Amino acid sequence: MCVQFLQDKELLPSLNDNNNRCTKVRNNKECGGILKKCERTSKKRNSYGIFKKYISFKCSKRGCQTYCSIRKQNQFFSYLDLNNRCHSNLSLTEIMELVWHWTHLVPVHQVVQFTGRSKNTVVDWFNLCRDVAIYKFDKRSKLGGKDVIVQIDESLFKGKRKYNRGRLRCGDIRPNEVTENDTDDSDDTEDNNINNTVGAKNYGTQKRDKATLLPIIKNEVELGSIIHSDEWRAYSSLNNEGYIHSTVNHQKWFIDPDTNANTQTIECLWKIVKKRYEIKVNGASPLLPRQLKEDWWRSLHPNKQTIFDEFLSDMKDAFMT
Ligand SMILES: [Zn+2]
Repeated sequence: MCVQFLQDKELLPSLNDNNNRCTKVRNNKECGGILKKCERTSKKRNSYGIFKKYISFKCSKRGCQTYCSIRKQNQFFSYLDLNNRCHSNLSLTEIMELVWHWTHLVPVHQVVQFTGRSKNTVVDWFNLCRDVAIYKFDKRSKLGGKDVIVQIDESLFKGKRKYNRGRLRCGDIRPNEVTENDTDDSDDTEDNNINNTVGAKNYGTQKRDKATLLPIIKNEVELGSIIHSDEWRAYSSLNNEGYIHSTVNHQKWFIDPDTNANTQTIECLWKIVKKRYEIKVNGASPLLPRQLKEDWWRSLHPNKQTIFDEFLSDMKDAFMT
């Protein structure tokens, strides 16, 4: 049933057509025989003591008859870790269960309880899920464009001193999604604001000076975009770099009455990130860049009803060969 589901999502090859060919190399020649569906019996027993059955491919060419896993075309399911250990000791259903938990932000210790998997197994699979988000981050397109407002905020995570890092975060708002922000700081407002922000992005940066931040902005934001930021001096030359720049002095205003600029949405995002990773308590961990990329991916998928399907679609982009 799980196999059929994954085939429908194009995450596994179809089993009944003749498009799947054997790649076994013998005498420097690839076999090329047609792979046929077959049922194999596992060497492992299930919890009832019965040997598990599973579906596999078998080469139909005479003299070859090699078995080939149906997972081979999707490297998510046939992933090898740093020690060359294959993670496919779990069934596809068991893997998809862990993926579901990851997409729904279920904490690791609860997943261990719900599934009976070890903590290491859960952490390994969660890391692999995060790779999908990071793949999408690395393939992202530039923010902004003509008439699109991009908000830029720089924020220093305050925590343990040795991990202090300045970070630049950009988010853009499509013109028809710009809404009037009030100055209410309640949680509801934060949620609304996060939905108004299209494609928030995070960057780990060592320094917060112009030489560090300007190349990032030029790399990430389309020329001609309208940039909203605070009055911090590293942004002062943006108007000379092909952007329309307005500033907001957020110590005085959330929305600047003269220029209509606001950076409130992005500041709310910061607040959420700092809270989620308990940065004030623990300091920023060395894993933070990966976590921020995951956070960026999640900001693109705010709907809990659809995030699982959206993840599977991104997995196809990232892992299907
Ligand atoms: Zn073959």
